[in-house]
Amino acid sequence: MTDCIFCKIAKGEIPSRKIYEDDDIFAFHDINPQRPVHFMIIPKAHIATLYDADVRHHAALGKILTKAGELARGEGLDDGFRLIANTGRVGGQEVYHLHFHVLGGPEPVGPMVQRL
Ligand code: AMP
Ligand code: ZN
Repeated sequence: MTDCIFCKIAKGEIPSRKIYEDDDIFAFHDINPQRPVHFMIIPKAHIATLYDADVRHHAALGKILTKAGELARGEGLDDGFRLIANTGRVGGQEVYHLHFHVLGGPEPVGPMVQRL
């Protein structure tokens, strides 16, 4: 995907505050943090949404889930955090390159969602 902002961040073509990178995944701070600590973990491969994930992405997505705790601890989140993957219109997704938000800080993140 040539005009995808997160593809460009993963390739280093757009600057970001990088936390971690390996062959499959990239983690960087959110530009508009919603909590004292707010970063994103993404697969380097362009996957638009969780709807588009398939068996080819097992390694990268498994790595994201198994790295999340370590990266969160590295950012000082040693008393819990929230992992969020907004998906599609109803999920409130704004950037269509799959990403997992990691959110936390000293205080509890709060209710999972606002009650309708
Ligand atoms: P979502 O609503 O789940 O698609 O979230 C997209 C997130 O990407 C938002 O929290 C934005 O603040 C964040 N974001 C957008 N552009 C950038 C960027 N250039 N660097 C870091 N975070 C970004
Ligand atoms: Zn992309």
